[in-house]
Amino acid sequence: MSENEEKMAGDFIHEAVAQDLADGKVKSVRTRFPPEPNGWLHIGHAKAIYVDFGIAKSFGGQCNLRFDDTNPEKEDMSYVEAIKRDVKWLGYDWEDREFYASDYYERLYVLARSLIRKGLAYIDDLNEEQIKEYRGTNVPDKNNITYTPPGKNSPFRDRSIEENLDLFTRMRSGEFADGTKTLRAKIDMAHPNLNMRDPVMYRIRREPHYRTGTAWCIYPMYDFQHPISDAIEGVTHSLCSLEYEIHRPLYEWFINNCEVFPSRQIEFARLNITNTVLSKRLLIQLVREGRVTGWDDPRMPTIAGLRRRGYSPEAIHDFLGRIGIAKTDSLVDIQLLEHCVREDLNKKAPRYMAVLRPLKLIIDNWPKGKVETLGAVNNPENPAAGSRDILFGGTLYIEKDDFREVPPPKYFRLFPGNQVRLRYGYIVTCTGFDKDPSTGEVMAVHCAYDPETKGGDAPDNRKVKGTIHWVAADGAVPIEARLYNYLFPMDRPMEFAHGGSFLDNLSENSLEVLNGAWGETALVSIESGKVVQFERLGYFCVDPDSAPGRLVFNRTVGLRDTWAKIEKKGG
Ligand code: ATP
Ligand code: MG
Repeated sequence: MSENEEKMAGDFIHEAVAQDLADGKVKSVRTRFPPEPNGWLHIGHAKAIYVDFGIAKSFGGQCNLRFDDTNPEKEDMSYVEAIKRDVKWLGYDWEDREFYASDYYERLYVLARSLIRKGLAYIDDLNEEQIKEYRGTNVPDKNNITYTPPGKNSPFRDRSIEENLDLFTRMRSGEFADGTKTLRAKIDMAHPNLNMRDPVMYRIRREPHYRTGTAWCIYPMYDFQHPISDAIEGVTHSLCSLEYEIHRPLYEWFINNCEVFPSRQIEFARLNITNTVLSKRLLIQLVREGRVTGWDDPRMPTIAGLRRRGYSPEAIHDFLGRIGIAKTDSLVDIQLLEHCVREDLNKKAPRYMAVLRPLKLIIDNWPKGKVETLGAVNNPENPAAGSRDILFGGTLYIEKDDFREVPPPKYFRLFPGNQVRLRYGYIVTCTGFDKDPSTGEVMAVHCAYDPETKGGDAPDNRKVKGTIHWVAADGAVPIEARLYNYLFPMDRPMEFAHGGSFLDNLSENSLEVLNGAWGETALVSIESGKVVQFERLGYFCVDPDSAPGRLVFNRTVGLRDTWAKIEKKGG
């Protein structure tokens, strides 16, 4: 068992499944991950995948991948492909157990007829609005306590079994217009749980389906399709997020009355993370309205977005293991996710030097035309990562921020008269600077180097407090750096003013593009997807937008770990 699976062993789902095995209710464990192919997976789905596959694995069972595809207007093959790719990338294997609810349409239809025959389902002519009205709703009483007055039976509720069977056949064969008839389960219009008030099982919808084409014009509703699909697959434990808890009595009602395999539904808390939204319905809006560049925009909480941003499956697993599986919803600080990727990359990412906002540093006493090679370690956290050569010359780029004409207190970087160490290179003393007379902007900084201080192992006991990074102009590689901020500046983007939308909460500056950055020569041959650390700047991942001569880097995360600080404070 891996460390994460061991952690999982202590949770309540694990206990419930173990009990079912001990009681002989099930002989082996089968779970499923049931995405609807109407969007790309986000990190909330990763949690569900982790639970579904993890529970099966820890009992030596199997987990199916099933597409719950019964909404023809929203589903598409491209989503199926994206979902499969992301589940695989996360490290899970469904082997040959790839299923589609749309393959069960015929069996669902037959079971629906069996309910009609038992007098447990009927064809209703009420329209959607009337059904809603007849069902009733939760209302506050005079003490402001919510209660649910009984609903009203549909006038069509008592049709004969023969008439219902006939109408259902004709619904299927396309005799009736969209929305004019539904098949409803006959349960209880006074049930305290609104879901049990004669839920709709089928609707008429003339919309081609991405797999079944125009073969069907009636489609099963989720609440009927889901338990039956689970039963067909022999799913012993149907694990889902908490919003389905209130649907569980209906799940069980369909299983019992259709007399199918008794799958058991168990709910766990949904993952919510600060500064983002985890719902396909909302994420698709960001994509459709062009608020992001696509599902895989590195700002998106999607698996594809996180991957493009530089996250590894290991970092995501570490995060999922830390948050655990609870029975009540909570909000997880996004800084915990960042902490996990930082820990992962700290060990893995080789280090390089790059300058994002360049300012020229001219070494006036450097021999004209001389270019020198210096040695640099690739990762002090990992000696096996080895070392590399970097070029040094008379003109370098440094960060604009590493020079001040007038230094603020405790500023240990470059300013006239001060000394700094150039990382892996020499100690230099700032001798002056050039200003653009019209704008007042500093155009270049001048310095003198001390040849005795090469590589940092020179015999000097001068107190040089600052070390700055740099890139030699000779051999420098041009870079576009994309820096990201949170999509939403607040913890809970779903809190917005009355009449507003979560879109009103979108940050104006979640992306900053720096076009004139420079990187050291060794970066020239780096592959797409590779993550590196730029010293003092953060972790950066090579974006697929890169082309020969045009390297694009996404900043995965900065170096400063605010989470570690929060933890220390016990917050
Ligand atoms: P969304 O609300 O993002 O559209 P969904 O629940 O409608 O998500 P599905 O494709 O139906 O999307 O989800 C597949 C599975 O993933 C379901 O079992 C669902 O419970 C689970 N899931 C979805 N979002 C989360 C989340 N934030 N945390 C945990 N599990 C989730
Ligand atoms: Mg859903």
